[in-house]
Amino acid sequence: MNTSHISSGPDQPEGADGAKASSAELTMPAGQESDRRFMLLAIEQARSAAEAGEVPVGAVIVKDGEVIASGFNRPIASHDPTAHAEMAALREAGRVLGNYRLVDCDLYVTLEPCAMCAGAIQHARIRRLIFGARDPKTGACGSVIDLMAQPRLNHHCVVTPELMSHETGNLLSEFFASRRRKRSAALKREE
Ligand SMILES: [Zn+2]
Repeated sequence: MNTSHISSGPDQPEGADGAKASSAELTMPAGQESDRRFMLLAIEQARSAAEAGEVPVGAVIVKDGEVIASGFNRPIASHDPTAHAEMAALREAGRVLGNYRLVDCDLYVTLEPCAMCAGAIQHARIRRLIFGARDPKTGACGSVIDLMAQPRLNHHCVVTPELMSHETGNLLSEFFASRRRKRSAALKREE
């Protein structure tokens, strides 16, 4: 077997300036690295929603560097229009802390919150909101409206939008594509 194509060859000196530059690019600031780690946990929650046949959205709430609550979207199974991922995580965090004010807590969610969830996030006094994909249909953090930027609302949390938006958006597009495939297969069976 000819493996010469995977050899780096002698014309790439070790320790060249180029190598230093690329290792510097790989080093992410500590905050950004932990943001990605927590968003990955929110993505795991979203996968649980997809497995249950619900639109895949997941959330985690972090306090002092630790996940204290998590939740995923399940309005269909619970017959509850308020059963969004953020609401589930907020309710659990309130129970864990024994307080309806979630002071010094950060919320990570795979999709831009809707108006209901953005309102609940403000009521809970969430310190920081980090979300993944934008929601052009119901997003209330800049896409349709921006409740987080209303100067007349008294609490404002710091918002980091579109973290890992590609990964979190893919979860949704794959889910809807697979649902369309299943529906058209079912229609063909009926014909
Ligand atoms: Zn919502």
